[in-house]
Amino acid sequence: MTTELRAVADAIRGNNRFLLVTHENPDGDALGSILAMKLALDALGKDSVMYVGGEMAVPPDYEFMALDGLLREVPEDAGTRVVLALDSATAPRTRVPPEVLTAAPLVVDVDHHHDNTRYGTINLVVAAASSTGEIVRDLLRELGVPLTYEIAEAIYIAVVTDTGRFQYANTTPRAHELAIELISHGIEPQEIFRKIYESVPFERAKLKGRALDRARLYEDGRMIATYLVREDFLDLGVGEEYAEGVIDELRAVKGVELAMTIREPPVPDGPPRRVSMRSASDAFDVSAIARRRNGGGHKRAAGFSSDESVDEIIEFVRSAFASAIPIA
Ligand code: AMP
Ligand code: MN
Ligand code: MN
Repeated sequence: MTTELRAVADAIRGNNRFLLVTHENPDGDALGSILAMKLALDALGKDSVMYVGGEMAVPPDYEFMALDGLLREVPEDAGTRVVLALDSATAPRTRVPPEVLTAAPLVVDVDHHHDNTRYGTINLVVAAASSTGEIVRDLLRELGVPLTYEIAEAIYIAVVTDTGRFQYANTTPRAHELAIELISHGIEPQEIFRKIYESVPFERAKLKGRALDRARLYEDGRMIATYLVREDFLDLGVGEEYAEGVIDELRAVKGVELAMTIREPPVPDGPPRRVSMRSASDAFDVSAIARRRNGGGHKRAAGFSSDESVDEIIEFVRSAFASAIPIA
């Protein structure tokens, strides 16, 4: 790990122009990690731009973040910049065109997904890290970049969201130690909590209501599934990003081992349906199911895109779940 960490730090020191990228459909870890890295590169006097690909808007939870200048299309000069990818398990998930990745002087892949495909020239993949933000923190230490309030807040957003507010299985002693360090640097957990979790747009609460109302149990209550169709989004005048968080409500239902949501993105381009899955234990690996449909993710949180119908998708996941033999 330290060899790769040093290699990434050397690549940053030795170059001046960067394209910071993350996965499409970005979450708090994705956005927190690129923002922290952007601020660090600014401090080092380096030229960098942030890019988030894909059709989906930044979820309203993260609207308060200082993401001005965030590009939604790769810039003209992309192929001449070092690509620094954060929190993306695969190259396609970055939505950086393959020809840009080929042209780039260097591709640096920094991530914590266990199924990372090591698509970089340098790969710093730390599966034990709670979040990519945690790896970014180590990188900044190696680079000698001090934690400003803004950097500390961005890293905290990455850790607090990816650990489910310090509740998921990736809530390690290190994740808590990092929180201690960030709080010591002045961040206010309650303030960040309020901005991320208690600034819910009303339409989002209504959308969640529709999804919960439609939820059904399968396999003696061990599996739960729901879906949101295009009309749900259009009726409420919101984008797909407003569906974020529905899956967490489903996962919390008593007796549920596998939760899934299916969404029809209300946009003309892109896949007809997107599927999110969550598993209650490492014994049941949802990323294995996702990979069978060209998706991926973590053992406990994974997803894929599909043009099958809602019923077909539920049946596919239900039969994969029913035939899986729990290891534990
Ligand atoms: P989500 O359900 O969208 O929050 O995604 C959960 C996890 O699954 C994340 O760690 C993603 O990286 C991964 N994931 C979701 N959709 C896909 C996909 N289409 N391809 C690969 N990985 C995915
Ligand atoms: Mn992520
Ligand atoms: Mn992450």
